[in-house]
Amino acid sequence: MRATTALKLRKRLIRRSAQEYSQAIRRTVQLLFLALNVWIGVQFYLFVRYYESGGTTLYASRPPGVEGWLPIASLMNLKVLLLTGVVPRIHPAGMFLLLAFIGVSFLLRKAFCGWLCPVGTISEYLWKLGRSTFRRNWMMPRWADITLRSLKYILLGLFLYAVVTMPVNAIDAFLGGPYGVISDVKMLNFFRTLTLAGGLVVAALVLLSVFYQNFWCRYLCPYGALMGMIARFSPARIRREPEPCIDCGKCAKACPSHLAVDRLVTITSVECIGCMECVAVCPAEGALALSVPRRKRLPAWAMAAAIAALFLGVTGYARVAGYWHTHIPPDVYMRLVPHADEFSHP
Ligand code: SF4
Ligand code: SF4
Repeated sequence: MRATTALKLRKRLIRRSAQEYSQAIRRTVQLLFLALNVWIGVQFYLFVRYYESGGTTLYASRPPGVEGWLPIASLMNLKVLLLTGVVPRIHPAGMFLLLAFIGVSFLLRKAFCGWLCPVGTISEYLWKLGRSTFRRNWMMPRWADITLRSLKYILLGLFLYAVVTMPVNAIDAFLGGPYGVISDVKMLNFFRTLTLAGGLVVAALVLLSVFYQNFWCRYLCPYGALMGMIARFSPARIRREPEPCIDCGKCAKACPSHLAVDRLVTITSVECIGCMECVAVCPAEGALALSVPRRKRLPAWAMAAAIAALFLGVTGYARVAGYWHTHIPPDVYMRLVPHADEFSHP
């Protein structure tokens, strides 16, 4: 008994001395990526307005990054690339963004969700707002949590089934047809002209995100589900060293994915978003880190640099190789954009 107490006392004395910057670095990356998406959104809105007004409003070129919001078209294009070796001509930027995010998730856990995704960032600010307002966030009962978590896999399964069973020539015809060409405009219009039902669903999701941590991401996002499945094979993972760990439980309490960081040695869960919140709160020197093979520790700045390198590397390649832009003549947009609502899913 005395020996155990002595050991615990000795462990408590090994406090972390270095300053912790992981969350400041992560928040900076998140806000930069959110700002990039707002910029893309504004530019795309101006582009659409120009064609809707028959060319009388301010012109802005179409930002290819908007295709990052077309995940199904990106999956279709990826299938075409894998089967034919040819880079598709409609919405190729979305496919390259998907490849960059797959690369991030494979190498750095589900860091796309924890470091880049604008929806994840907004979601995080919402639950933090809820926590500061009500001094807590709520948790689903275990049975409900497990049941709800399966929803995102069901949605992902449906999308994958649709893409996998669609022949390459059908994908070509779909993306090259009027609906496929202006699917980005239709997506913008969906949010611009929300129906009452759509508005209620968005409001409910916002409200639930205030009470429950990452409600949308944890239960409903098929993109996050795909990233999580890829991250399952990631060499990077949170690793706890039982020797210096003082079993304070702070890491588990801080984890927005509700993982038992304080009881496991390595975190390989598909729900780990690589946010390093657990690492940030750990008081014990050397007890917890994001590690790569051979127990090499990955500091937050290296994580941010690797994410930036992957993102800029893949998108930069697409630009230099001439694959970044969808080349649609202006007269086609002039014809299709004002009548976007008339085209329905074939
Ligand atoms: S285990 Fe750590 S890195 Fe993973 S989600 Fe939880 S807090 Fe974030
Ligand atoms: S925060 Fe977690 S890893 Fe760090 S000392 Fe406490 S229980 Fe151990």
